[in-house]
Amino acid sequence: MSEAERIPFKCPKCGKESEPEIQRSVNTVTEPEAAERVISGDLFSYQCPGCGTDVVLTFPLLYQDLVRRTTLQLVTAKSGLTLEDSVKDAIAERETTMAELRAKLPEADADFGEHFRVVTTPDDLREKAMILKAGLDDRYVEIIKSMTLSIQKQDGETTDVASNRFMIDDENKNFIVYFDENGEPIGEDTFPKEFYDAIVDDMKLVDEPPVVDAAWAASYAAKLLERLPTD
Ligand SMILES: [Zn+2]
Repeated sequence: MSEAERIPFKCPKCGKESEPEIQRSVNTVTEPEAAERVISGDLFSYQCPGCGTDVVLTFPLLYQDLVRRTTLQLVTAKSGLTLEDSVKDAIAERETTMAELRAKLPEADADFGEHFRVVTTPDDLREKAMILKAGLDDRYVEIIKSMTLSIQKQDGETTDVASNRFMIDDENKNFIVYFDENGEPIGEDTFPKEFYDAIVDDMKLVDEPPVVDAAWAASYAAKLLERLPTD
């Protein structure tokens, strides 16, 4: 059950202060429309009532998908803490909550504890939500993203590539989209599902840390790239 609340906001452009309404949690089963608004980014977009500027609001949000037994937590810096320490705090709090739940509910782990990820930006949360919606495991998706990014960077024609993301379109087709260093999209590839299936089969990852991102995936990707035939 989501609780709507308001947060203070000061427009960076015109200085007007307002109080946008935000949501602290989204349950994909009971609030499918809110889940779609996470994926589209609408949940984080806000228009300043003073000047009409569109901004992205970043606020803490819990995204729960009980069907896929996954909790995604968007963490922002708490007052007096760095973002890094706020992430550590969130992970520690999650462990405490799970310990309390386990004491009360025998099925707590099955229902709430299987998969837990922490992210720090709305775009990271959107991407994880899209990966969930596509029925994929974000660990292998991050490894594939890391590999394809390395390959793109090696390719002389596409040296502008700085980052990439997994995305799904309205017809649920899966893509990897490439961005330059200003965050502008500059190309896309179809998501390599056969390769994904092959590495899921091959790697059989057991490790499932709360933070699964490009830095986590880099060493796995490097090892896989060494094994690929070169031409
Ligand atoms: Zn404004």
